[in-house]
Amino acid sequence: MARNRILVSCLLLAITTSAYAALKFVDHWMLKQSSTRPAGVVVDHLVLHFCSDVIAHPDDPYNINRQVEIFEKAPASANYLIARDGTVYRLVPEDRVAWHAGKGRLEWDPKFPGMNQKSIGIEMFAIGSPNDMKLFGMTKEKYDAFKTKHPEWVGFSDAQYTALNELIKQIRSRHPAIAFDRYHIIGHEEWAGRARRTDPGELFDWKRIGLTRERPAK
Ligand SMILES: [Zn+2]
Repeated sequence: MARNRILVSCLLLAITTSAYAALKFVDHWMLKQSSTRPAGVVVDHLVLHFCSDVIAHPDDPYNINRQVEIFEKAPASANYLIARDGTVYRLVPEDRVAWHAGKGRLEWDPKFPGMNQKSIGIEMFAIGSPNDMKLFGMTKEKYDAFKTKHPEWVGFSDAQYTALNELIKQIRSRHPAIAFDRYHIIGHEEWAGRARRTDPGELFDWKRIGLTRERPAK
């Protein structure tokens, strides 16, 4: 009895003294689809993405095992993937380079070197606007049919925003060079250009992570 009471007290202490809200992490490592982070490279960017398997499996677009297979085949990866219920899958450790950004250019810093090496990539299971989804071959008809059948699967879930806020806080505590602004926390579309990538897209609400879609002038 006394032992249980001590255990409960310890747990309560751990919860109340923790600087972080609880995140549910699940490890699903993709080490082969990653590379060594070169020594001396400072991680100072965070890139947000969405992904799904909606074209091939519109009735089951958010399947973690299938999504990892899709990444493996590409090959591609990210450091994290946030599921609809807020579960955070750890795919590539932060000290390794995940392959999420590809070719691109920062409009405000054209000489910026390869983004993967300098960033942490976060995927979220989501489906964007009709405009965003055109790139993946989702016609307006298919989009409307999907949205009618699964309205709760369009855009980003509350649990995802909650998890994303917490995850960003935790990542920035380990990589303080990631300034909390729209020059360092960016969407894949801003790096790659919308002709090549449209994520996290028009439905992602930047205000829900304390930022704005527009990049304030420096
Ligand atoms: Zn992306």
